[in-house]
Amino acid sequence: MADEPHTPLRLSLDGSALVENWRNLAALSGPHAACGAAIKADGYGLGACEVVTHLASAGCKDFFAANWQEAHELAPYLVGASLTVLNGILPEDMPFAIASTAKPMLNSPEQVELWRGTGLPCDIMIDSGMNRLGINLDDVPGINWDGLNIDVLSSHLASADEDVVQNSDQLAAFESVFDVVPHKRKSLANSAGIALGSDYAFDLTRPGLAIYGGIPRQQLTGLINPVATIEAQVLQVRSLNAGDKIGYNATRITDRPLRAAVIAIGYADGYLRGYSNAGIFYSNSSALPVLGRVSMDLVILDISGASDLSEGDWVQLPLDLPTLSRQSGLSQYEILTGLGQRYQRNWRN
Ligand SMILES: *Cc1c(COP(=O)(O)O)cnc(C)c1O
Repeated sequence: MADEPHTPLRLSLDGSALVENWRNLAALSGPHAACGAAIKADGYGLGACEVVTHLASAGCKDFFAANWQEAHELAPYLVGASLTVLNGILPEDMPFAIASTAKPMLNSPEQVELWRGTGLPCDIMIDSGMNRLGINLDDVPGINWDGLNIDVLSSHLASADEDVVQNSDQLAAFESVFDVVPHKRKSLANSAGIALGSDYAFDLTRPGLAIYGGIPRQQLTGLINPVATIEAQVLQVRSLNAGDKIGYNATRITDRPLRAAVIAIGYADGYLRGYSNAGIFYSNSSALPVLGRVSMDLVILDISGASDLSEGDWVQLPLDLPTLSRQSGLSQYEILTGLGQRYQRNWRN
């Protein structure tokens, strides 16, 4: 049997930082609200199984996945915790959903009818003004809630990362159904919603992004720290002269002699073209700017600040998401979920 191939691209993942972010979000959710965790899209790209394991041992009891495929993969890790499938149920999902320990978020009158006969637990999503998934306010009075075993009555904020009247409008719309829809618990706030204050916390908050180091509102600065660091290996080092052309389409021409390193990451690893001539890697604390265009599997760096770097050395990129978002034009969510499968994901702590 052959040995495993070497991987020149790693994600170093800090389990303590993940747990600390979640604990800070739980504290900010106030003494009356439990804090859950959105783990959809493979734990926002970091690895949902490890995320669940870390957060469950820290006391997280409510997890949120997108679909039944994710629920299936996570089931073995969720002993003693609840998992909600946010995207709800289609008729084709029913056999699996009924046998599953996860519960659906019911998003429409049709889904309420599909689930009623099962007698099994469910959550309800009300559309309070986003016009994405959820039961329309107008449809709420006409729905027969008998026979449903509703745990969490939920809605989702569209613009919690902005100071806009839509937030309080959605809060009021959500509150308007409390007397009509039977429920055990209420939940409204995502990461940014937690920072809007205690009015938005209710019984259960549902952060995702901020657990993984994202900062959607200034109030979270200082409470949230990066969880992931990209580490890529140097594949080749070269010396360039003034006037040399760099990378596809020569979008960069050197104005002086410099040392350059070619590293094992590219847009196929979620390091997209927006970082061309804009991104910065690090060797210890030396900044190594990206030169020219990002390729599919390769990036060229100016290593003038660390000219002792040689083939096989590693360079780092801490996922400071607000900074990377400004550099690349990507959202903090896209940076995480776009990371892809070529990283060796190494958890420590
Ligand atoms: C993704 C999601 C969340 C988590 O949102 P963040 O902005 O990542 O904190 C919460 N609730 C629902 C319904 C979601 O789809």
